[in-house]
Amino acid sequence: MRRATIPAMPASFPRRVPLAELHCHLGGAVTPSVMWGIAHAQGIKLPTKDYWEFRDMITVSLRHGHSFDGYLQLFHWTELIQSSPLAIERSVYEVVGGAYRKNNVTTMELRFNPMKRNRGGEQDLDHIISAAIRGMDRAMLEYPVRPGLIFCLDRAFPYQLNEIIAEKAIAYLGRGVVGIDVAGPETPTFQVRDYRRLFDRCRRKGLGITVHTGEAGPVEEIAEVIEQLEPSRIGHGVKAAYDPRTMAMIRERGIVLEICPTSNLNTGVVSGWDEFRWIFDTFRRNGVRYTINTDGPEMLKTYIRDELASLTRLGILSVEEQLQSAEWARQASFVAGVADVAPPRRRPPARKTVEREEA
Ligand SMILES: [Zn+2]
Repeated sequence: MRRATIPAMPASFPRRVPLAELHCHLGGAVTPSVMWGIAHAQGIKLPTKDYWEFRDMITVSLRHGHSFDGYLQLFHWTELIQSSPLAIERSVYEVVGGAYRKNNVTTMELRFNPMKRNRGGEQDLDHIISAAIRGMDRAMLEYPVRPGLIFCLDRAFPYQLNEIIAEKAIAYLGRGVVGIDVAGPETPTFQVRDYRRLFDRCRRKGLGITVHTGEAGPVEEIAEVIEQLEPSRIGHGVKAAYDPRTMAMIRERGIVLEICPTSNLNTGVVSGWDEFRWIFDTFRRNGVRYTINTDGPEMLKTYIRDELASLTRLGILSVEEQLQSAEWARQASFVAGVADVAPPRRRPPARKTVEREEA
């Protein structure tokens, strides 16, 4: 009998394959027990003295309902608790190390708005940024990881504040800051075209550009963002599937989408897994590249490998397609040289031996 020469595709995404997570907000990524410890260490007056109530306060649940604004409100406490040099250093350190231990994520691109971590200007921005870099450096001393920081500008901020954030990203480029993003709720004051020159400057300096669009906002904005800000990646962009012209623009410019399935289901941006099946079918038909991410694993109670497992279980993406998307993530990473990083020598432990709360 002849031996089969082609190895069979595994039934699930292999744990030994390291991952790059491109879309993860610091405010949604720190384990609740660690956040609880940080809040107490800093003497922050929380609205509850009960840990489980606190956990509910900073994670999604049916009680909060499925709305975009409701989701953004969860960040109120996490951002406040992370608003000091010590708090942000510990937060970044815990997220980068935890992602490696729990999910074999070797490149975590962690995004946050440094100006939402300085208590309205009470704390010095450079101290906050330096502390975040220190947290990342500490994690790199302990684990074989290549992380990076992305600074989020905010749609609700006036231009002058966003400009300061972008200039800080340029100033710390080469020290661990790798890109900029635009996040936050839709506001009538935010005009994409106002940011054209600033983004151009950031790109020329060498920062990666990603922008949240095609999530809760209108589909028309995606094309405007592509034309004005020229991002190489788009945060979410699920709505692009509904517009053939936008699909063509994304394909032609080689833009990579950062898809966060569970997040979109929680905010109600996507109605269910069936809609996701159609969205991924549309990406496939149009030759659009995408990556799988969590948006905030602890807040949304899902890890990147849980997302992959759901997509496998529901038959939405094959394991082969997931391996391809993991490769696209490495290629699209803003962290230099990620595509060439050798995988860790040791096999990571099986999922069941890594406890969820082990952070
Ligand atoms: Zn996001």
